[in-house]
Amino acid sequence: MIGSAVAYAVARRGHAVTLVERFAVGNDRGSSHGPSRIIRLTYQSTDYIALARASLGAWHEVAEAAGERLIVPCGGVDFGPPDATYMNEMRSAMRLSGVPYEEVDRDQIVARYPQLTPPDDATGFFQPDYAMLTADRCVASLAAGARAAGAVVREGERVLGVRPSGGGVLVDTDHGTIAGSSVVLAAGSWVGPLLRDLGLALPLAVLREQLAFFEPADRASFAPGRFPLVLQRFAGSTTLGSIFPLLGSPDGVKMMIDRIGPQIDPDDPPCGVDDVIQQRLLESTFGSVRGLTGRVNAIVQCRYTMAPDEDFILDRHPEHQQIVVASACSGHGFKFAPVLGDVLADLATGRQPTWDIARFRLDRPALKGRWEAHRG
Ligand SMILES: Cc1cc2nc3c(=O)[nH]c(=O)nc-3n(C[C@H](O)[C@H](O)[C@H](O)COP(=O)(O)OP(=O)(O)OC[C@H]3O[C@@H](n4cnc5c(N)ncnc54)[C@H](O)[C@@H]3O)c2cc1C
Repeated sequence: MIGSAVAYAVARRGHAVTLVERFAVGNDRGSSHGPSRIIRLTYQSTDYIALARASLGAWHEVAEAAGERLIVPCGGVDFGPPDATYMNEMRSAMRLSGVPYEEVDRDQIVARYPQLTPPDDATGFFQPDYAMLTADRCVASLAAGARAAGAVVREGERVLGVRPSGGGVLVDTDHGTIAGSSVVLAAGSWVGPLLRDLGLALPLAVLREQLAFFEPADRASFAPGRFPLVLQRFAGSTTLGSIFPLLGSPDGVKMMIDRIGPQIDPDDPPCGVDDVIQQRLLESTFGSVRGLTGRVNAIVQCRYTMAPDEDFILDRHPEHQQIVVASACSGHGFKFAPVLGDVLADLATGRQPTWDIARFRLDRPALKGRWEAHRG
């Protein structure tokens, strides 16, 4: 995803760019596949809110250029216990950023959305700008837009290593060597080993994530507009439970509880259903919604690449400025892709990024630690 966003930005500026993908663009082995992703303005800091706002605008531009429906507005509700992680920080960041939201208690949530059955102590807010991004189409649109602007897209080719060479780079793949003036390493959950060979041992944790699609009894009541995006928050953890209105395929009400899966090796092959994650989902977020038949239409796995502070890594290599590092996940990078593509294009073409990216630096203290399940 991020690689396609960079190629899109670089090619549209008239620069020559080659996107190298070990599988196919849009594959289901990494972190960007599936029918939907959330784009939201409900963040615990004003800089993320500013990035999310710009990203919403940028996705509209990508959608218009592609002639595709990439954004499905539906509104959203965040709820949790009164001491849920980030809820108060989000309220103050939204107030500072002028993001409209409406405080709601449990009864008000149920009155507005009778499909929801939040826990008794739930409190939260409704925010109207929540929308779903049609994930698979978003990735395809960025890659197609990059191609249309002159990018070369090489699929089924694996990068084995990157070498600084003079002022440029040599990228060794299983098909040969590509020379260039710079490179952006945006290999998702596989970025760690490539960086280690460049002397950067980053404490990135790769987590197995799993989501399920449940059959609703009455489809109309789970359509966008009738049913919101839901983020359930918890105390003492950044884990999120999420529930999505009906959209695309697999069919069904999409639900997940994240950051609870096992740490895995990037090269671990896909595995069968993780019953522990599914059981946790049924014991938690599944209980906050009614009107589902209990039938599971599909279960899909995916990966998070977690930085210790759950912020992205967007920076140049400390010794080789022509090598740019991009790890934009920690479970929330998709929505920002078109803007991060621009930032990374700036870094790769020797320009000063228009965005303040200090919080995403490689030398920040948090990257000396490691990701912990229970934090916040
Ligand atoms: C289940 C789930 C739900 C999520 N929900 C949201 C959400 O609602 N909102 C949101 O904003 N974010 C969300 N995220 C996070 C978001 O999807 C990710 O942050 C984002 O997709 C990461 O993109 P990426 O390009 O870094 O990784 P990927 O899309 O995995 O891309 C990395 C690519 O690099 C390729 N590659 C790897 N190694 C090599 C190599 N050696 N040579 C060549 N190619 C290579 C891989 O094949 C892959 O295609 C979610 C993530 C998951 C898993």
